[in-house]
Amino acid sequence: MDSEFNWGEAMANIIDGKKISSEIKSELADRVKELKNKGVSICLCVIQVGDDPASSVYVRNKKKGCELIGIESVSYELPENTTQKELLDLIDRLNNDDKINGILVQLPLPSHIDENAVIERISPLKDVDGFHPVSVGNLCIGRPGFVSCTPAGIIELLLRSNIDIQGKECVVLGRSNIVGKPMSILMLRQNATVTIAHSKTSNLKEVCKRADILIVAIGKSRFVNSEYVKDGAVVIDVGINRNDDGKLCGDVDYDDVFEKCSYITPVPGGVGPMTIAMLLKNCVESANLQGKI
Ligand code: NDP
Repeated sequence: MDSEFNWGEAMANIIDGKKISSEIKSELADRVKELKNKGVSICLCVIQVGDDPASSVYVRNKKKGCELIGIESVSYELPENTTQKELLDLIDRLNNDDKINGILVQLPLPSHIDENAVIERISPLKDVDGFHPVSVGNLCIGRPGFVSCTPAGIIELLLRSNIDIQGKECVVLGRSNIVGKPMSILMLRQNATVTIAHSKTSNLKEVCKRADILIVAIGKSRFVNSEYVKDGAVVIDVGINRNDDGKLCGDVDYDDVFEKCSYITPVPGGVGPMTIAMLLKNCVESANLQGKI
């Protein structure tokens, strides 16, 4: 009787972002030691303007991450009423400070500061978030440069889970500058056939159902259910939302999709932990781009 049931096939493999991110951090710690032995030390500078509690948590976690892999971090916690000029002047000083390898300005910024002006002021050689237009351009034309951390982390999750990307149909749901767009370029680089879907896409369910690899980054709690997912698809959930009980949940209805897909990332514990790991990777690699190795 049991022969009809193969629970192994029916259940998705859970991609463990916590475990994979720990592996990456431990590799980075080794690399940092190696660099130190060669006399190269790495330092990240994090700037926060105002005291948004979520930003404070992110900043703290980034500093902790640096400590864990053995790189230095300095931080500037600036008051909410900091002017744009003061912030740009600080960035200029840090761009010219040889001891600082990476500069990260925690977003969002207060509304009186133009985020684009700030992003563009950071030297592309220190742009560890990968948001500068030069970094984005380099990504598009396949030149060395910093890549936005969340999409870079998703590529690591796929590769380290031995998931074939080449030749596969990939649908990226969401087209933001920090996730959807760079994600689609990275999947293209891995030779996937890529579709980018968004809020104006017609027949969204059908489009998503074409995907061998479906990457969802829309910021809508449990929006994607099994009707959007092809049997055996790989489902990557970037979303970080709160459900009605205040618990963290993704953009994918995990329970509904779980038995239909071959691999899935949980929320929390999937894509989230990779973002900091890749930021740290960008910091360590900055020494390369800066010609210090
Ligand atoms: P944005 O709000 O910048 O972009 C959302 C995108 O989703 C837009 O392109 C929008 O389309 C599209 N979209 C929104 N609603 C729908 C819909 N109903 N159908 C189809 N497309 C839709 O979000 P982000 O990319 O910054 O973030 C997405 C999610 O990922 C959020 O939950 C965020 O918290 C999370 N996130 C997680 C990170 C992590 O480390 N795990 C890092 C960054 C983000 P359109 O362009 O047409 O408006």
